[in-house]
Amino acid sequence: MVVYEHAGVKEAREEFSRWLADFLPSDYDERFHQYRWDAKLRREYQLAAFDSGWLMPEWPPELGGKGLTPFEAMAVRIEAASRPAPKLLNIQGLNMVARALRAHGTAEQVSKYLIGTIRGDQLWAIGMSEPGSGSDLASLTTTAELDGSSFIVTGQKIWTSDAHRADYCTLYCRTDRERPKHAGISAIIVELSTPGIDIRPIKMASQGDEVFCEVFFDQAIVPLENLLGSLNGGWEVALRSLRDERHMIWTMNLSEIERGLTRLRELLAGEDPSSHFALELARCVAKRDALCLTGYRALERELSGTADPPEGLMLKLISSELVQQTWGLLRDAAGPLAPVDAEIVQESIEALGATIYGGTSEIQRNIIAERVLGLPR
Ligand SMILES: Cc1cc2nc3c(=O)[nH]c(=O)nc-3n(C[C@H](O)[C@H](O)[C@H](O)COP(=O)(O)OP(=O)(O)OC[C@H]3O[C@@H](n4cnc5c(N)ncnc54)[C@H](O)[C@@H]3O)c2cc1C
Repeated sequence: MVVYEHAGVKEAREEFSRWLADFLPSDYDERFHQYRWDAKLRREYQLAAFDSGWLMPEWPPELGGKGLTPFEAMAVRIEAASRPAPKLLNIQGLNMVARALRAHGTAEQVSKYLIGTIRGDQLWAIGMSEPGSGSDLASLTTTAELDGSSFIVTGQKIWTSDAHRADYCTLYCRTDRERPKHAGISAIIVELSTPGIDIRPIKMASQGDEVFCEVFFDQAIVPLENLLGSLNGGWEVALRSLRDERHMIWTMNLSEIERGLTRLRELLAGEDPSSHFALELARCVAKRDALCLTGYRALERELSGTADPPEGLMLKLISSELVQQTWGLLRDAAGPLAPVDAEIVQESIEALGATIYGGTSEIQRNIIAERVLGLPR
């Protein structure tokens, strides 16, 4: 693994690594496949990481951090992904909602939701996609009509991960039909137990613990004070959250890639280095290293003033395709044993979603073509 040893980075990475080794049960590696879905361990990990400042390393101690520099924090995230540390239970709450609250929330919203969201005491869903609006998010039609001091919400969301067990949802709604489509959207915080909301889980082919839901709104009443950001300013909140989601996705993908590479190394130990599978493994390792270096390059550019560097799109695109490639290679290399290997079966299926959520690969390529390569629309 390419490690970026900037001043202080090595120390932070090693300190975290020691902390994590102390935290994890002694049979963690051996029984990883079971621990991966162990809600109790994942919850304990989130709370312990919050208390010791490793959860959001660049944030202040009261928000689960240690005030590390962005480079140190990235080294800690890459270390957590590579180990891999237990997966958090409500990744969208921590990585998308908590950041949106800090950037756009009122003082009341921050005090009501921020700590609970970071610790995982309050669980969140993200209500963007609709049956007719996925890639083209700005075309969404769920409406929030302002009526005095409340919004009346009507419409439908789909593919809403974990809505069935979430307490709240950041819901993107149309609040002005007269404006251009992206300028008539607002983000609102919706308590999912509100009357008029019907949440229907969708039966999944995968055995992962994330469940998609359809969420129906029939004149659900949401207080005006739950507006996140400005009225009709939801597009700004959405863009920021999608950027945060891409950051979350590439390190999450890195974790799956690392596990696939470890399995491949074990399986191919002793193999002729010039064999097809050994060469393909070397290609995956090189891409994994390029991915991490691109992550540092994106951060470098961000810190030198580029608000949303295009590397963020590339990280999402490349990491999503590399997860599929790594587990696909493992499946092929395992041959007839693959269908009876629970981990290979499950991870190969889970990997299919990576090129869809957070913006499909086709959409990332379109944006890179236009914004980076300057190709015509
Ligand atoms: C595991 C997972 C979790 C998810 N969780 C959530 C969630 O919590 N909340 C939420 O709101 N959504 C969630 N989604 C939904 C996800 O954001 C959408 O599936 C995604 O944005 C694509 O939208 P769509 O499914 O409507 O496909 P469409 O937009 O209908 O696209 C269908 C196909 O057409 C292609 N396409 C569309 N437009 C173009 C174009 N202009 N050029 C080239 N190709 C194009 C797409 O790439 C895709 O292959 C999740 C999805 C997955 C897989």
